[in-house]
Amino acid sequence: MEEKKTVLSVKHMSVSFTQYERWIQRTTLLAVKDVSLTVKEGELVAVVGSSGSGKSLLAHGVLGILPYNASWTGEISYYGEKLTEKRMEELRGREIVLVPQSVSYLDPLMKAGPQIRKGKCDPKSREESVKTLLRYGLDESVEKRYPFELSGGMTRRILISTAVMEKPRLVIADEPTPGLHLEAAKRVLSHFREMADEGAGVLLITHDLELALEIADRIVVFYAGTSVEEASASDFKEETCLRHPYSKALYKAMPDHGFWAAPGTQPYLKDRPSGCPYAPRCEIREDGCLKEVEYVGLRGGMVRCRKAKEE
Ligand code: SF4
Repeated sequence: MEEKKTVLSVKHMSVSFTQYERWIQRTTLLAVKDVSLTVKEGELVAVVGSSGSGKSLLAHGVLGILPYNASWTGEISYYGEKLTEKRMEELRGREIVLVPQSVSYLDPLMKAGPQIRKGKCDPKSREESVKTLLRYGLDESVEKRYPFELSGGMTRRILISTAVMEKPRLVIADEPTPGLHLEAAKRVLSHFREMADEGAGVLLITHDLELALEIADRIVVFYAGTSVEEASASDFKEETCLRHPYSKALYKAMPDHGFWAAPGTQPYLKDRPSGCPYAPRCEIREDGCLKEVEYVGLRGGMVRCRKAKEE
């Protein structure tokens, strides 16, 4: 079988913010630390973590749309070619698209149709936009509605329509289902699965592990600004297939596995401990866990835990 091409490769990415305390003291906050992942053609990779774990910053860093006081280090490649700022500007909104978390990305004063067509008025663009709306279960009349006249689920589908009009090769979806009820969220996420099945690489950022498991090929587990495990979605069928204590805690917290709540809470990014970020909550920690822990390959996935074993 032909090997699928790697669309996106992120290596050792870190994102820092420069801040001023009491207006004068300059400090640096390391918000995302040493994250590596790949997305192949036809693959949906979900980055899963709780709110405040820094996962959206990863998406924004890849897209080159971080806030002005943020900077990043690491290496990002697109189809094997280093993704420079200039190259990203050429590709963003065309081959590489963002489906944003906030519906405020839509212009409230512009009807949906022109936003989907990016202002183009020619018959071909109109035809394409109607076809795209139909594909996402919206009829032609939606073209003439303003964002405030649409429900939450419809607005989400408009955001997706806007992104896919350009036939992207890499789709980055940043929490695309907030505020939607379960069925609507499932429907929206199924559209990302369709995009992957049609050959695009999809990077989905989400806090919802259960929904991610329904559509993703691989899961990257995020904790306190870093990736602690990368596993295939099928590894989440059995606790013993998982590699990191936090992933196992997420498994045990699922409704089918007992709703178990791990003691403690995830630290704020500014309070992340040195060494293993999960150490304060980990039942199997040892002294060595207070030193930096590398992200290494294990049983076909990746893990950041010095006690994870080959078995
Ligand atoms: S590195 Fe140590 S503290 Fe961290 S998850 Fe592994 S065993 Fe627990």
